[in-house]
Amino acid sequence: MHELSVVSSIVDVVTESLGAYPGARVVEVRLKVGALASVVRESLEFCYEIATAGTRLQGSRLAVQALPVVVHCALCNADAELEGVQSFRCPRCGEPSYDLRQGRELEIDSIEIDEDAMDEVKEKA
Ligand SMILES: [Zn+2]
Repeated sequence: MHELSVVSSIVDVVTESLGAYPGARVVEVRLKVGALASVVRESLEFCYEIATAGTRLQGSRLAVQALPVVVHCALCNADAELEGVQSFRCPRCGEPSYDLRQGRELEIDSIEIDEDAMDEVKEKA
């Protein structure tokens, strides 16, 4: 399953970033997932439990933030959010646009850890 390898690499990244905080417990991992990232949210959540078992992330939550596709329309000279991934046309003028500005993301937004003076660690995937 594709999602399992995605989640496994997330676990690796988070575990590595926890190196500096030996006593910390992971509360929540926040993920940004673009509409074109070709992962299924439910599968990510399902695989998360499997992949975190026995790691320092065990018992933590995975929060998935879904990002819509955004294209840049040259005619309108503006970015536009698409309602789906079927039609890559500017919703204002109808001009086709493949100038993608958002939608392929698959990255860790932030990690919430539970440690006295540490509330949150910003982490770039
Ligand atoms: Zn347009």
